[in-house]
Amino acid sequence: MAVAVCPGSFDPITLGHLDIIERSTYIYDKVVVGIADNQAKRALFALDERVAMVTEAVAGLRNVVVAAFDGLLVEFAKANEAQVIIKGLRAISDFEHEFQMAHLNKKLDGSVETVFLMASPEYMFLSSSAVKEIAVFGGDLAGLVAETTAARLERKLQG
Ligand code: ADP
Repeated sequence: MAVAVCPGSFDPITLGHLDIIERSTYIYDKVVVGIADNQAKRALFALDERVAMVTEAVAGLRNVVVAAFDGLLVEFAKANEAQVIIKGLRAISDFEHEFQMAHLNKKLDGSVETVFLMASPEYMFLSSSAVKEIAVFGGDLAGLVAETTAARLERKLQG
């Protein structure tokens, strides 16, 4: 069975992430969305909130499971019997960082391959941080995040 891991912080999950996850399901038998518990990055949403938010956002997709992880991504991939790490590539700015990560992960475990999917044009400029900025100022999030995610953002920022 071909299994892929789609890792990220998902703080919050955007339609750009969902697009990459959905397209991955057409290529692989199973897609594991890995939510990183990265303490170095100060997240707006706690890990359990991000797990709940991603779980509701992927509810309509087949063969997708959601799991949190800390530690090395290649270890998480191996624990889930995934042969592939999928990353979305937006503008050129993503490339340098992703290129480095792909090579480091390959060095850590030569059996796990990183595969890049090009961001769809409509999501090329969409990022979690931009979504947070728009949400803080009460901007319209339609077309940027799922409705369930927009509702969570609203509740979080009101609270
Ligand atoms: P980080 O890796 O900095 O925590 P994210 O959690 O936002 O970033 O992203 C995880 C993955 O999703 C990365 O591979 C990133 O390139 C990809 N990604 C983020 N936003 C988009 C988008 N709008 N379109 C396609 N891929 C995206």
